[in-house]
Amino acid sequence: MDKIAINTAKLIEFIDITSKIEKIVRDSKIKNGICVIFCPHTTAAITINENADPSVQKDIIKHLDELVPADKNYLHSEGNSDAHIKSSLLGCSLNVIIEDSTLALGTWQGIYFCEFDGPRERQVWVKII
Ligand code: ZN
Repeated sequence: MDKIAINTAKLIEFIDITSKIEKIVRDSKIKNGICVIFCPHTTAAITINENADPSVQKDIIKHLDELVPADKNYLHSEGNSDAHIKSSLLGCSLNVIIEDSTLALGTWQGIYFCEFDGPRERQVWVKII
């Protein structure tokens, strides 16, 4: 398993990690298979979305904030329930097909680490099968 270290800088942000995952795939020398990308955190997530227009990520963050407000009568005493809920909504793992030693992503797709309770030191775990 490979581990990618990510230091997030903001409370909420999306970080494009596509090139880091592609490097792990290249270095593995595996031509065809599955790349499992896993986020081992309960207040962060992993998602695939558009990497051409940065407004898309801003819109996703804005609408998640509207859907899951930071201040509500949550029971969790740590004060970051909104981050936990957003983490579960987006999910903690992805499978991407590896074809001819590259990630089989759509033209406009990028892989994003999604921070919802930063800034923190984070990791993404990657396993190629
Ligand atoms: Zn918490």
